[in-house]
Amino acid sequence: MSDNQDQKMMGLAYQQAYKSYLEGGVPVGAVMVKDGEVISAGHNRRVQDGDPTAHGEIDCLRRAGRQSSYNGVTLYTTLSPCMMCSGAILQFGVTRVVIGENRNFRGNIEFLRSHGVQVDLLEDKKCTELMDNFIKEKPGLWDEDIAGRTDV
Ligand SMILES: [Zn+2]
Repeated sequence: MSDNQDQKMMGLAYQQAYKSYLEGGVPVGAVMVKDGEVISAGHNRRVQDGDPTAHGEIDCLRRAGRQSSYNGVTLYTTLSPCMMCSGAILQFGVTRVVIGENRNFRGNIEFLRSHGVQVDLLEDKKCTELMDNFIKEKPGLWDEDIAGRTDV
């Protein structure tokens, strides 16, 4: 997929993150793309649904429903995936992950790569700014979402 398409898809993931931000939730968004088509979009729903496992990537996987294969699927996420989401990515065999930013959360890029996932980091300024603002505004909520662990 071209850089332009990656930017466009990350823009859709950002829209999901921003929607969650406006809802008072954790602003992490994700979209899943297969054969150039968006098959699902989601965002973190910890606050909205009272669900601690509803990270953006997990919500997106759920909304895609049952898939017979994740071969050729790209998951776009605004923030570097935590260990739970990285585990789901490996479990289902998602081929590629495109990450908006990893400044606010380092995530598990090398772990994913070491297990054969193609990972690209866009270092997207809008994604970084949105998380910056959220963490400044609601540090307690952010801490809750990552269980106070910035290293996983
Ligand atoms: Zn996660």
